[in-house]
Amino acid sequence: MSEPVQMLDEGALLDRVQAPDGREILDAATREVIGRAPVHTVADLDAAVDRASAAQPGWAALGHERRSELLLAAADAVEAHAEPLARLLSREQGKPLNGPNARFELGACAAWLRATAGTVLDPEVLVDDESGHAELVYKPVGVVGAIGPWNWPLMIGVWQIAPSLRMGNTVVVKPSEYTPLSVLAMVSVLNDVLPDGVLAAVSGDREVGARLAAHPGVGKVMFTGSTATGRKVIEASAGNLARLTLELGGNDAGIVLPDADPTVIAQDLFWGAFVNTGQTCAALKRLYVHDSIYEDVVAELAAVAEQTPMGPGLDEGNVLGPVQNPQQLAIVTRLVDDARARGARIVTGGGPAPELGELFYRATIVADVADGVPLVDEEQFGPVLPVIGYHDVEDAIGSANRLDVGLGASVWSGDRDRARAVADRLQAGTVWINSHGGLHPMAPFGGIKGSGYGLEFGVEGLKSVAVPQVIHG
Ligand code: NAD
Repeated sequence: MSEPVQMLDEGALLDRVQAPDGREILDAATREVIGRAPVHTVADLDAAVDRASAAQPGWAALGHERRSELLLAAADAVEAHAEPLARLLSREQGKPLNGPNARFELGACAAWLRATAGTVLDPEVLVDDESGHAELVYKPVGVVGAIGPWNWPLMIGVWQIAPSLRMGNTVVVKPSEYTPLSVLAMVSVLNDVLPDGVLAAVSGDREVGARLAAHPGVGKVMFTGSTATGRKVIEASAGNLARLTLELGGNDAGIVLPDADPTVIAQDLFWGAFVNTGQTCAALKRLYVHDSIYEDVVAELAAVAEQTPMGPGLDEGNVLGPVQNPQQLAIVTRLVDDARARGARIVTGGGPAPELGELFYRATIVADVADGVPLVDEEQFGPVLPVIGYHDVEDAIGSANRLDVGLGASVWSGDRDRARAVADRLQAGTVWINSHGGLHPMAPFGGIKGSGYGLEFGVEGLKSVAVPQVIHG
């Protein structure tokens, strides 16, 4: 069995991963320096891929049972360090400790590690009769390159790492340049229980990501980030023929049918949109509401927005935080200002909250907007929800499906069958009824259209980090 895990506090975790000559990383809420992240080079990345390649056969040879035991030990190690990791994540990413934020993210990391350890991908008997016998089995790909975004850096990291390791691959992680410290700290905790060389993190800029995607030693790239970068990863795969899972941007629509009760759904609608202060791939980003209850839904959403505490994440009372970085804040500001200039109604919020800090933007509900307004058509990725009225549900379905993205969508109604009939017609990888954004480790998750391809989680997720082999006879 594994050695007992050494317990480290936040400072000790930071000391482990910092580089004295590295890049300053700021607290998203206070803009104070948290620490210095190493800026690894392409040569460092090449060395990490070489080490991962060397370690892979031994890791694969351990077998499924032993690898699952080690993933369970990794879950225990993450759980034991959940609080210092959540605090570091909260400062670096900005998300509050409480609400569906930093502590929740660490809980999800442990839960996904455990669920992945327990998922079994058995050989499939394809033919077994007088004509012959054939089986489909799944083998490791080799080295997996895991490239992540800044919004849920630890949870998405685990989504990439856990199934890859489970299937006998070794992994090189490239965290976002906005949130390297928390990912490096989590990887160091995982490495306390994993064999040497099996998991490495290389913290560099975009060119390091580009090299990882194009690396001839990488057999599979798990990429989560923007659609624009996803296209570059596809281009890179023309060189190394790496298999790809691409979890890209979204612009999830929700449709509220006329029989929904605005007071009943308001909280869930709000959190569907404002989870992680709106910086979530599969968050509700445009809401279509039937004319007959439009004003009621808008008023209920505004009331929830005004009552929900926003502020620095380490303050236990807050559940909404800052926008993570100035570039993203500029996108949010531009989209809301543009909608206002076009005549949209800012029901609540609509501007920065400088008294809270440089990167805070008030929770904002925008009414009287329409398709074609950039706030509706572009992914805002911040604490803003545009609410659009409709009269005929056919129009709402058409609006939901008109964009070239398809990550998630939701339908809200008191009548499940009616909601289900609408859900069947929505172009999205996941559709929720009377909720938005909840995920389960056994239910595959992935986008369609410009939101990418490939599935994560469950048995399908294991298949996606393996190569199939058919054995006849
Ligand atoms: P991004 O595309 O800017 O960066 C993502 C990662 O790619 C970073 O680590 C970056 O360094 C790296 N990178 C940059 N250039 C590269 C290249 N040429 N080749 C390989 N890697 C490269 O995305 P972001 O701003 O960090 O994340 C926000 C976006 O991610 C949003 O659009 C959001 O919707 C999306 N997202 C999607 C999901 C999902 O599951 N579908 C989850 C989270 C975020």
